[in-house]
Amino acid sequence: MPLENYELNEEEKLLLQKVLDGEISFRKIEEFADPLTAVKIRRLAIQEYAKLEFEHIQNFSLDVEVVTKKNIENMIGAVQIPLGVAGLLRINGEYAGGEYYIPLATTEGALVASVNRGCSVITKSGGANVRVFEDEMTRAPVFKLESLERAKKFYDWVKSPEVFKQMKEVAEKTTRFGKLLSVKPFVTGTYVYLRFSYDTKDAMGMNMVTIATDAVMHLIEDEFGAHPVTLSGNMCTDKKPAAISAILGRGKTVVAEVTIPQDVVRETLKCTPESMFEVNYSKNLLGSARAGAMGFNAHAANIIAAVYLACGQDAAHVVEGSTAITSMELTKYEEIHCSVTLPSLPVGTVGGGTGLGTQRDCLNILGVAGAGDTPGINSKKFAEIVASAVLAGEISLIGAQAAGHLARAHAQLGRGKF
Ligand code: NAP
Repeated sequence: MPLENYELNEEEKLLLQKVLDGEISFRKIEEFADPLTAVKIRRLAIQEYAKLEFEHIQNFSLDVEVVTKKNIENMIGAVQIPLGVAGLLRINGEYAGGEYYIPLATTEGALVASVNRGCSVITKSGGANVRVFEDEMTRAPVFKLESLERAKKFYDWVKSPEVFKQMKEVAEKTTRFGKLLSVKPFVTGTYVYLRFSYDTKDAMGMNMVTIATDAVMHLIEDEFGAHPVTLSGNMCTDKKPAAISAILGRGKTVVAEVTIPQDVVRETLKCTPESMFEVNYSKNLLGSARAGAMGFNAHAANIIAAVYLACGQDAAHVVEGSTAITSMELTKYEEIHCSVTLPSLPVGTVGGGTGLGTQRDCLNILGVAGAGDTPGINSKKFAEIVASAVLAGEISLIGAQAAGHLARAHAQLGRGKF
């Protein structure tokens, strides 16, 4: 479109021209305009480059002043994801108690319907029992030592209680809420990795633990003279599937369970406890083992991704969340006992994307927005809700596969408009 057709004042037109001419880079536009204008100028520049006219991405209710400081660089607009709810889901947790509507943001037709059916099964069966077993966020810098002898000395030094006390003091000076819980060393040749674990209360905590660990790295360098190679040596392990996180836990380690009576299985899922057991055993357990999978579940990532997007979580942490194990056992009363174990579920109710308007609305649906009255209780409650929703998703999908309904549901719901 010719530039004169845009609704811009003379100053803005000049600015857009300079951006198009490459005189001002995208990241510098804020130096010449307020944040909202900068977003508009960048978007118009992209329109010019791409030779199109946007109809949607300029429509949003985000607070540009805030998000361009905290959440995004080079902003040009926003994408929308449809938001649905599944529920009511009855939860009997240590922190979450009652019935909840679960906000799910997704473009995958059939997902909300499937979770909704799982919620109905769980609620009819008395609710999901759920507990948080571990709660710690990790960061693992790597140090290079001059020799194996020095590496061993360093390894032993780190394990001394006095040194831990010193590290804890330094780490906790950087945050009002974070608590250093442990520092576990791992050696590879003359490299030593220190896996720092923190209780980050209501924050997911990655920024918090990075800042705290950075302070301790300086202490280590000064006190021991170990050379820090990088603040993140991947023994953390952030946003990569890793056995260490699945074994030791990262974020919240949560387990949710429910025992479903036979008549509920038959009426709601249109299958039998035996057929669900068979599908879960052959698929989630044997099939996953044969495939060398790290997640022994049907689609935990689907539910985690949809809740994370709705509730302002770091979407890349779906990777860790997907290492869930789904178990189904027949009881002597002809019911089926179902559980999901999520060893590594990073979640937070403060910080990151949790403060954005629409995401905060979703956290409010669950009653977990912001900091808890006692720090940490909101994020634990949220973790219990996410795990219970995952349980609902697992039950519904395994039920559908046991009844042979999977393809039909997707054809009807996911592809209905084609
Ligand atoms: P954050 O946005 O940095 O803010 C969290 C801060 O909120 C805490 O550090 C704490 O401040 C404050 N706070 C207030 N009330 C709290 C409460 N009840 N419990 C805990 N903290 C409370 O959030 P974050 O969770 O540390 O980090 C999340 C962000 O990190 C996400 O945006 C994510 O994408 C990003 N991320 C960073 C890295 C990295 O390496 N830096 C890696 C992955 C993801 P004080 O600590 O000052 O007391």
